[in-house]
Amino acid sequence: LTVLGIETSCDETAAAVVRLDADGRAHVLSNIIRSQASEHAAFGGVVPEIAARAHISLLDRIVQSAMEEADTGWDDLDAVAATAGPGLIGGVIVGLMTAKAVAMAAGKPLVAVNHLEGHALTARLTEDLAFPYLLLLVSGGHTQFLLVEGVGAYRRLGSTIDDAVGEAFDKTAKLLGLAYPGGPAVEQAAAASVDPTRFALPRPMLDRPGIDMSFAGLKTAVRTTAHAAAPLSPADVGDLCAAFQSAVADVIGEKSRRALSLFSEAYPDTPPVLVVAGGVAANGAIRQRLSQMASEAGARLAAPPARLCTDNAAMIAWAGIERLRDAAARGERIDDRAVPPRPRWPLDANAAALLGSGR
Ligand code: ATP
Ligand code: MG
Ligand code: FE
Repeated sequence: LTVLGIETSCDETAAAVVRLDADGRAHVLSNIIRSQASEHAAFGGVVPEIAARAHISLLDRIVQSAMEEADTGWDDLDAVAATAGPGLIGGVIVGLMTAKAVAMAAGKPLVAVNHLEGHALTARLTEDLAFPYLLLLVSGGHTQFLLVEGVGAYRRLGSTIDDAVGEAFDKTAKLLGLAYPGGPAVEQAAAASVDPTRFALPRPMLDRPGIDMSFAGLKTAVRTTAHAAAPLSPADVGDLCAAFQSAVADVIGEKSRRALSLFSEAYPDTPPVLVVAGGVAANGAIRQRLSQMASEAGARLAAPPARLCTDNAAMIAWAGIERLRDAAARGERIDDRAVPPRPRWPLDANAAALLGSGR
């Protein structure tokens, strides 16, 4: 199976070709990512209108590069997969419509992929990993624990009750005057910290049972601390970033430990694997904390390489392959040409029901 993937849900314009061999081995033949960070940097965040226009002007070239680098012709493709949501609607429309046009012109099926399913299945592209597993999805828009029981079979165990972790990184960066995008900037500043224990920040909801999380208060605590210490020297910023990052790592580490025991209650005979995915999974300190916690808990941590944690199209092509293979095993075919772009699209059916049928 060879699939072209297209990703345009935020501010990365991306296309990739992924192939699954008959022996079950996956190959990323190309993975082109054009970040629009420089277009948005002056605004301190993604401007949806600018993003949509940039996707329009960039996507054709990016798709062409992905096909060329993979040395793949249209006839070699088995399908075209594109993010159909959730995300900024303008960008999703551009990517999905482009994919529909390519699929129709090439006479190939279209697979409309949930962006979060792309994040959720990436670890199966990069390593040998069977269902079920526990997923910690930590990205710019989402922070959830999910039980991944199969392709299309996701059960939410817990989530943030307010901000996503990536959002907290981005807001912290902004209020400390660091460059956009915030996550990598905070990680870099924290790495240069001289005294990482100088500032004490709260660990929201660690004193409460369960695995739900909260990050809005932590961001506010950073603001309060920053005001009290103003004017901030670069050393102050580094120490504050380190304090923020270790508070996040503490919360995520402990909640993940609890989530692993819920997993083992549900699947007592399955060796527990914690998969971390989404942009924040690129963070070295957080990966290290999770890996340490997992080994203490007798579990394994699976974390895709950082380049496949942040938004990319290889994960979309791969999710397309997973869905095609899953459908084929049931003797079904996928033809998503009628699927509309969706700004909101929860991964788990429970959440979809809670939100009502509309989105
Ligand atoms: P979603 O996947 O929820 O729709 P998104 O696609 O915008 O949101 P991703 O690209 O998956 O999000 O992740 C981007 C987020 O990851 C941003 O909030 C960014 O700050 C954060 N991030 C990226 N790299 C790092 C890092 N090294 N440390 C911490 N956070 C990071
Ligand atoms: Mg981005
Ligand atoms: Fe994402």
